Amino acid sequence: MGDDPSIVIVGSGFAGLGMAIQLKKAGFHDFVILEKNADVGGTWRDNTYPGCACDVPSHMYSFSFELNPGWSRMFAPQEEIWAYMRRCVAKHGLAEHLRYGSAVDAMEWDDSAGHWEVTVADGSRYTPKAVIAGIGGLHIPSYPDIPGLERFAGAAFHSAEWDHSLDLEGKRVAVIGTGASAIQFVPPLAEKAARLHVFQRTAPWIQPRPDIRFSTPMRRALALPGAARAFRTAIYWVLEARSVGFTVDPRLSGAMKKVALDHLARQIRDPELRAKVTPDYTIGCKRILLSSDYYPALTRPNVDLVTDEIAEVTETGIVTASGSVHEVDVIVYGTGFKVADALTGQRITGRNGLKIQEAWADGIEAHHGVTVPGFPNLFLLSGPNTGLGHNSIIFMIETQIQHILGCLRLLSAAKGRAIEVRGPAVRRFNDRVQRRLRRAVWSQGGCRSWYLDENGVNRTLWPGFSFEYWAGTRRPDPADYTVTR
Ligand SMILES: Cc1cc2nc3c(=O)[nH]c(=O)nc-3n(C[C@H](O)[C@H](O)[C@H](O)COP(=O)(O)OP(=O)(O)OC[C@H]3O[C@@H](n4cnc5c(N)ncnc54)[C@H](O)[C@@H]3O)c2cc1C
Repeated sequence: MGDDPSIVIVGSGFAGLGMAIQLKKAGFHDFVILEKNADVGGTWRDNTYPGCACDVPSHMYSFSFELNPGWSRMFAPQEEIWAYMRRCVAKHGLAEHLRYGSAVDAMEWDDSAGHWEVTVADGSRYTPKAVIAGIGGLHIPSYPDIPGLERFAGAAFHSAEWDHSLDLEGKRVAVIGTGASAIQFVPPLAEKAARLHVFQRTAPWIQPRPDIRFSTPMRRALALPGAARAFRTAIYWVLEARSVGFTVDPRLSGAMKKVALDHLARQIRDPELRAKVTPDYTIGCKRILLSSDYYPALTRPNVDLVTDEIAEVTETGIVTASGSVHEVDVIVYGTGFKVADALTGQRITGRNGLKIQEAWADGIEAHHGVTVPGFPNLFLLSGPNTGLGHNSIIFMIETQIQHILGCLRLLSAAKGRAIEVRGPAVRRFNDRVQRRLRRAVWSQGGCRSWYLDENGVNRTLWPGFSFEYWAGTRRPDPADYTVTR
């Protein structure tokens, strides 16, 4: 295969790999996958913190076309998910398409030639007809804006860049943040550290995590014809039912709230600690977390939960607004990711020199989260408003892959040079999305989450059931697109 392919996929996480497999299945073999790192995996390569696992059951958090009856647990750990992805690479012969150490620096559409010019940081260039960006949204670590962070003289790292060379045994450790990653690594960390200070700004809603281990007989049963598919389907509908309260009416979330409050009452007896970890906003406004060992970790004698606002970081520790000083050896940031920057930071130039930042001056949006007017033959995976609070992102990614294949088929059937989404179609689609989001729990639930941009507009989540997205997205409507010869 030459290095001037007709399609470039950027990124080799679930999105890039899924796209590559489906391209091959559809008979498109002339593509490369540019990956800035030295291996595939994205999220599941980078996040190696203790306790890292998916929080959507693995039978659903995997490709529908690559079922795995052998998952060891309901929520597989990071190494197992990463190994699954590498197995997919081997099985589908993707190695020859992968170009590691290829950080895409810029992309520019050449309208006269009808191709993209993709520039890689190492100086290499590609001129594909189409680009599919699977760059993910959760990979730029976000640090809190706290005075003195750089002054701290001990070790400090983000959960997505875990420093395994550091032995935390017997150390005094501060964890900043109590989101999805932190509640996974706090329990194992609490067992190692001499003292653990967990700094919480907002209490998360937490439900029990039914993390059963699949015994050998269970795995054998799941390997029977149709069993893994049936199990996946059952999980899908259980998870989907959760979104009724998110999207239709938060009052319908009463049962979910009760499950969370009962869980809290069972696991934390101390009324003072209980009050500290009881959320003060509607359940679902932020991602509902699953854990059966986080609350017990907080009750350990060597752990203290600090809800006082952090005032500053000094050379030796953390000072809170009330003046209390927490001396520590290590700070771990469990403060999430810069979601919007992942897309808006890209150097992408479309037709007539239009920069993606100009196209998104009023906020990021795309048609079905996939295509943007002014950017022919460019497709986004995990794009704006395609995230979910309640089900597997891989379901959404697979739907986008079908949409992209549909666009490529339209292009090839018309023997066209370029396919571009029409502005009015994007307007209609996003007006509908934003209308629904305005009355949804993420805007009305009394919390401020990373789902919202700096103007309080939700540019992250899909507002409805995931099957609605599937029904409306998987086949592109030819009337929404212009194909030029
Ligand atoms: C700790 C953690 C747990 C999660 N658990 C779940 C879960 O249980 N369920 C769920 O639905 N979702 C979960 N998510 C969300 C998760 O990110 C998505 O489910 C999914 O993995 C995203 O896949 P992706 O391919 O879109 O992005 P990523 O996995 O982020 O992959 C993007 C790839 O693109 C590469 N890349 C980026 N920019 C460039 C560039 N300029 N040039 C070349 N390569 C580039 C990156 O190196 C990376 O390999 C979790 C996220 C985290 C961080």
